[in-house]
Amino acid sequence: MAAVLADPALKIATAPATPLATAGPSLIDAVRAIATGDLAAMVDAIDRQGTYPKAVLKRLGAVGALRAHLRLDGQQDYGAAIAAMAEVSRVCGATGFMVWCHDACGLYMEESGNPALTGQALLDHASGHTLGATGLSNPMKSFAGIETFLLHARRVEGGYRVNGTLPWVSNLGPDHYFGAVAAVEGAEGGHEIMFVVRCDAEGVELRNCPSFSAMEGTNTWAVRLTDHFIGADTLIADPARPFIGHVRAAFVLLQCGMGLGVTQGAIDSMWDVERSLGHVNEFLDDRPDELQAELDALTERTMRLARTPFETSTEYLIDVCDTRAHASELALRAAQSALLHQGARGYLMSSAVQRRVRESHFVAIVTPAVKHLRKEIARLSATVAPA
Ligand SMILES: Cc1cc2nc3c(=O)[nH]c(=O)nc-3n(C[C@H](O)[C@H](O)[C@H](O)COP(=O)(O)OP(=O)(O)OC[C@H]3O[C@@H](n4cnc5c(N)ncnc54)[C@H](O)[C@@H]3O)c2cc1C
Repeated sequence: MAAVLADPALKIATAPATPLATAGPSLIDAVRAIATGDLAAMVDAIDRQGTYPKAVLKRLGAVGALRAHLRLDGQQDYGAAIAAMAEVSRVCGATGFMVWCHDACGLYMEESGNPALTGQALLDHASGHTLGATGLSNPMKSFAGIETFLLHARRVEGGYRVNGTLPWVSNLGPDHYFGAVAAVEGAEGGHEIMFVVRCDAEGVELRNCPSFSAMEGTNTWAVRLTDHFIGADTLIADPARPFIGHVRAAFVLLQCGMGLGVTQGAIDSMWDVERSLGHVNEFLDDRPDELQAELDALTERTMRLARTPFETSTEYLIDVCDTRAHASELALRAAQSALLHQGARGYLMSSAVQRRVRESHFVAIVTPAVKHLRKEIARLSATVAPA
């Protein structure tokens, strides 16, 4: 599968493999130690028994992996945040996804400018002391004309009452919280609000989801809101649309960490069998050195975009969507090729290769899914005047 807008750099990428960590070596070293230590030891339990790696997420927070993209330390670094997420995803795609969920929530809180969501609340979030999530799939698809809003807000004195159900929100727990969007009833021309929902608040109910083919350890729940009150202390943005426009590229770009990491993990698995199976694997397509060159070029492209995550030009948004789509497509290809390289040992249910095939599917369907990205690229491209 080719990316929708091919980057010429991808075709000439023959440089030797560069590590995913292009920023903050000490942070990345610390993240890698956690990923290859505690996380690797429980990755099978996360995948097969649905064990939620709360302690690992907290340790990632403690070493600074969940705050690199925030302005808190005066050196906001999206590249470091993406590289950290990639190191986690290289070992466990499900945990890498939860790092993204938490990072996205931190982005909403900080950019809200709401004193109740910044200050100590943001410090606790940034250090992983408290854990957050995001329920923006539905509004992102609604804004793109793919589905309708599932949450509805009614104006009341001092705020809003929200009703509705989100079918899937990950990284939740009784003391967690997540960002959400609701359409305001009776508003002409579209009016939405964005807010934080605390799972232990009145009118919030977590309901079981069906079993998934992967991502079982992500604590994913359906969330039912019943007359749930939103006041000034939980409001992220009113109206929500300008805010979503402001954070959209950062939201999508951060997700590249999942695709880059799952791809690197798949390439690692190919090298694992090179000594024993290289004599026959050399006849396969998508060999590890080829995929590594493509991954390195894609990482470079991601890191370049990560320097300006709040840019809003149409060209930039297209580039971000295309890079995110390429990361999904590369993860799919690499996971499939790793399976072909490993053969029967990769077909064992306990194999990391088997798990990564399922994780790569998730990278490609989580919002914005590949089809959503392509729709968005087509829409944005139509607004750019030909040169
Ligand atoms: C494991 C997992 C974790 C997720 N975590 C989050 C999260 O943390 N936050 C978040 O906002 N979103 C989350 N999602 C949702 C995800 O981001 C996508 O929105 C979702 O996978 C569907 O995206 P799609 O674009 O492929 O839509 P499609 O699957 O094409 O869906 C199109 C429409 O069909 C509906 N639909 C799909 N499946 C069913 C079903 N079984 N029953 C009834 N209706 C259905 C959808 O709701 C939608 O309206 C999660 C999904 C999964 C599977």
